[in-house]
Amino acid sequence: MNCHQNIIPKNYELLSHKNINKIGQLNNISSDFIAKIKAVSMVLPFRVNNYVIEELIDWDDIPHDPIFQLTFPQPEMLDGLDLDRMHRLLNRGAPKENIASAALEIQMNLNPHPAGQMDLNVPAENENILNGMQHKYPETVLFFPSQGQTCHAFCTYCFRWAQFVGLDKLKFASNDINVLVRYLREHIEVTDVLFTGGDPLTMGTTTLRHYIEPLLAEKPGNLATIRIGTKVPAYWPYRFVTDKDADELIRLFEKIVESGFQLAIMFHCTHPRELDTPIAKAALKRIQNTGAIIRCQSPIIKHVNDDAEIWAEMWKKQVTLGAIPYYMFIGRDTGPKDYFKIPLVKAHQIFSEAYRKVSGLCRTVRGPSMSATPGKVLIDGIAEINNKKHFCLKFIQGRNPEWVNRIFFARYDEKATWLDELEPSFGEKKFFFDKTIKKMKAEKKVLKLKKKYSLREDIHTKCA
Ligand code: SF4
Repeated sequence: MNCHQNIIPKNYELLSHKNINKIGQLNNISSDFIAKIKAVSMVLPFRVNNYVIEELIDWDDIPHDPIFQLTFPQPEMLDGLDLDRMHRLLNRGAPKENIASAALEIQMNLNPHPAGQMDLNVPAENENILNGMQHKYPETVLFFPSQGQTCHAFCTYCFRWAQFVGLDKLKFASNDINVLVRYLREHIEVTDVLFTGGDPLTMGTTTLRHYIEPLLAEKPGNLATIRIGTKVPAYWPYRFVTDKDADELIRLFEKIVESGFQLAIMFHCTHPRELDTPIAKAALKRIQNTGAIIRCQSPIIKHVNDDAEIWAEMWKKQVTLGAIPYYMFIGRDTGPKDYFKIPLVKAHQIFSEAYRKVSGLCRTVRGPSMSATPGKVLIDGIAEINNKKHFCLKFIQGRNPEWVNRIFFARYDEKATWLDELEPSFGEKKFFFDKTIKKMKAEKKVLKLKKKYSLREDIHTKCA
């Protein structure tokens, strides 16, 4: 039976601060609150669509509704003075240039590219920077296709928010797939390419094919897995089911799998409600029928999903729908982080409580994990040693591969929300990786390190 035969197609309608007045559901909200939403959206990206508005947000629970918090800018996301400043500029009808320059000043104070993305992750070829790519861990390269640097709705906490606010200098994007193919041929340590953004599945299928098919034809280097990072199953599931090129997209997925590659759909799934609609279920089913694997990941975010019940319910639903719980992340130190942040202690409590409520099949999930400058650092536990509490931390990815799976300790701190707020345990002055990261930053030695591991892999392959 066709799993989507009863689904009625929907036409995508984009809504932002420019046409916010078209959102009838906002009529019951005070004009002052709407003016503040507009003021924040001059600084941080705001975009939503008719599916999110009509089928995901519970308008009887505004402003607390988690999907409303997920997609609509909230006044507290800006510092009070910054909010007043934007509010006043808009109220007095200030020229666009004045609004833009005030917004830019505020944006630059919001740490637009955290965790060394600009200075440490961007690879080079013959000393030319390869724009639109990141290579932080040996086995995985990120590629940012130019036309995919947007989303069907913007998450208010998005750590890639800088991509969406016109800060061109800070934009990762490339439309040259040949550069990626060449890079993969030369970097045989790479097994996975992650197409990311933005959201690559906002691209039409013809455009997406332009990026994917050269990889299928060339099979460069040791590429084995094509990952696509996306929130489309949550924000616009019609993309996979009833949109005019949905069938073509599904055929492209099938072709990837038939070509011998793993296709991993890295589904950014924030809240269990995103999995409840018939169209979302139909979308996940169609994706899985192609042979693709769906892995689910999300940050834990105050006001949106900071509750163990929510996570347990979400992981259970994911497994029921055939998707694999993969990561609970800690929100990165960027953008309106102060509004969304959760102490590491609380994140660990929520993770543990949720983990205890679910069966083994849900426990494929890892977390809470910080994608920090030195690597992905897991809060693995809280240990009591000599009557003192310590965070037990573990690298699950490392800028230096030798750090992977290494455990280290940090002093217990109830307020800390990110790795760089932690102090090493047992009287150490620095964490063991600090010196290396400092050196990498100062001398940009990261490329040499990658070459070293590429060479080792080469030797290993030849000897095997
Ligand atoms: S879907 Fe991902 S890239 Fe798009 S706004 Fe949300 S967090 Fe950002």
